Amino acid sequence: MNSIRLGTDFDNTIVSYEHVFPRATKALGIDVPDEIEGKPELRRFLRGLPDGEILWQKVQAEVYGRRMCEAEMETGFREAMQRCRAEGVPVVVVSHKTRFAAQDPDTDLHKASLQWMESNHFFNPDGLGFGRQDVYFEPTRKEKVRRIGSLGCTHFVDDLPEVFLNSDFPEGVARILYGQGMERNADIDLASDWSEIASILFGCRV
Ligand SMILES: [Mg+2]
Repeated sequence: MNSIRLGTDFDNTIVSYEHVFPRATKALGIDVPDEIEGKPELRRFLRGLPDGEILWQKVQAEVYGRRMCEAEMETGFREAMQRCRAEGVPVVVVSHKTRFAAQDPDTDLHKASLQWMESNHFFNPDGLGFGRQDVYFEPTRKEKVRRIGSLGCTHFVDDLPEVFLNSDFPEGVARILYGQGMERNADIDLASDWSEIASILFGCRV
């Protein structure tokens, strides 16, 4: 039995929304210059407009709510989960996500995420093999990092360095920062896709 217990974030770690953001912004009637590419740049641009923070929250409600079904699974996630199952490594999902979107109280974000997981075979024993009890949505970042501790994760994967830098982040949990162009930090492993995460956990396949 392997002693690894893997925890992972959900949005932009398991789920890719890169192609959904431009569509959602357009659908809301916001003109974005062609040179604005990627979520961080879009966020900076929208926040610079009048009522920018509200606009950004509206775009997020659209992406993580109504358009959730358009989102895709990150590269290599399925294979990494198959490897975890084969190695007997439990996996839990711990996401910082409020139930309702700030700018759209009719949109249930937890329901949208669970439906996406269902349609991507997360809860199918022949699919990704998750149980419903392996998925946690926490209303604040503080509660998220506490949950990571109480679940006894040995490793945690997240696309936001802020999660690892939170003062309540449990000591001794290996931190794996997911995504492109991240800054190296002595205490944090970097992974640009899930096959790299599998290599960090299990070493290279020979
Ligand atoms: Mg995330």
